[in-house]
Amino acid sequence: MPDTAHNPTDDVDLGLARTADRLAATHHPHPDDARRCADPSCHLAWPCVSSRFAERARDAATAAWPTAWTTRHDLAAAGIAVSP
Ligand SMILES: [Zn+2]
Repeated sequence: MPDTAHNPTDDVDLGLARTADRLAATHHPHPDDARRCADPSCHLAWPCVSSRFAERARDAATAAWPTAWTTRHDLAAAGIAVSP
């Protein structure tokens, strides 16, 4: 019988996980107005597009490869560089 056990961390897309961390570090609710993004270059209504991409990248980082693959393409189409 083949050994099908594997470490779940082997399946993490680190580029997507780093991209999620990078986006979430700057795109979070403003401390003085939780309805706005704190990033001065964004300042859109919360949750902003970039924060949604951060959540999506975080989920996709541990998803099956087709989800990770399409998320990488959607990030690129939105002009968001995926971290190496
Ligand atoms: Zn933002």
